Amino acid sequence: MKINVTRSSMPSYEEYCEAIKPIFESKWLTNMGPLHNEFADKVGTYLGADNVSLFTNGHLALTIAIRALNLTGEVITTPFTFASTTHAIVDCGLTPVFCDVNPDTYTIDTDKIEELITDKTSAIIPVHVYGNVCDVEKIEAIAKKHNLKVIYDAAHVFGVKIGGRGIGTYGDISMFSFHATKVFNTIEGGCLTYSDKALEGKISTLRNFGITSPESVDEVGTNAKMNEFQAAMGLCNLKYIDDCIESRKVAEETYRKRLEGVDGIKLCPIQGGVTQNHAYFPVLFDGYKYNRDEIAQKLSAEDIFARKYFYPITNEFSCYKGKFRGETPIAKKISENILTLPMYEGLSDDNVNKICDIILR
Ligand SMILES: *Cc1c(COP(=O)(O)O)cnc(C)c1O
Repeated sequence: MKINVTRSSMPSYEEYCEAIKPIFESKWLTNMGPLHNEFADKVGTYLGADNVSLFTNGHLALTIAIRALNLTGEVITTPFTFASTTHAIVDCGLTPVFCDVNPDTYTIDTDKIEELITDKTSAIIPVHVYGNVCDVEKIEAIAKKHNLKVIYDAAHVFGVKIGGRGIGTYGDISMFSFHATKVFNTIEGGCLTYSDKALEGKISTLRNFGITSPESVDEVGTNAKMNEFQAAMGLCNLKYIDDCIESRKVAEETYRKRLEGVDGIKLCPIQGGVTQNHAYFPVLFDGYKYNRDEIAQKLSAEDIFARKYFYPITNEFSCYKGKFRGETPIAKKISENILTLPMYEGLSDDNVNKICDIILR
């Protein structure tokens, strides 16, 4: 039996069929239908967000967040992320400036942000990585001092809270991804959360071709609407999200029991005061008897597929290499030594133990 790095959480076939039945009756498939609106309310409540807008995927949501805030010039971000973050910045005609990451949480190193700020800087786009949260207080203080906007790539932190406060309430806007591989999915999908209600109109307009009324188009918009089938999947999956996270937690506990304290193996420290979502289980091999690539090979030889994630870092992509400012040696070293182990709802204790046996052998 193959063990992949992730497996999508799904409702039963019957439950999903029941949920999509009204679509066959109304024949309303997309463009802010009833399921879209119901799901927007429910997911916003779950995230503890003041305002939420749904999207067909997280990447377009992030792109629209950047457009909605009218960012210009340079944006400080990290390269230890998925292609989406850097692509969204560049696609909006902005220049990414790469800040290195914290060696424990792999999120932006807040002690290195200010030295990168110039008179062209308009925003910081940090990434909450693996379910670890950024130092949101420090980022807020820097943004305030230099009059910068903050958009969080929150693709990995669905359901995460700091001291009971939803992670999507920090910064100007946060982007969550509901892709099939994430903790919570709507097949493909995503959302933006934001505290300034005034952004809602602009975000909705950009999401629907810039159309503001049947005969007026006021923005160079795109098409990024969530359809009714996605919303139905979201409504089904949302019912089970707490069980899903609990199941991941059990798997993480077994991983930690087996791998914590082993020479040459480094796990992320558990962040105090943070409600975790156990999205990923990253392991850093640093001075272990085998390197990351050898471990990945040994696992795949037994049909277990871990992921070199994130590797390479985005400033090493051929489309970006050498083009943008910012030295990121820590991010580079982490990306060359990190492996995210299988982690999903229903991953059995036996399988976690099997994976650990192979690594420790
Ligand atoms: C998944 C992901 C995205 C993109 O989300 P999609 O919904 O797949 O478009 C962006 N950033 C990070 C860090 C991600 O992991």
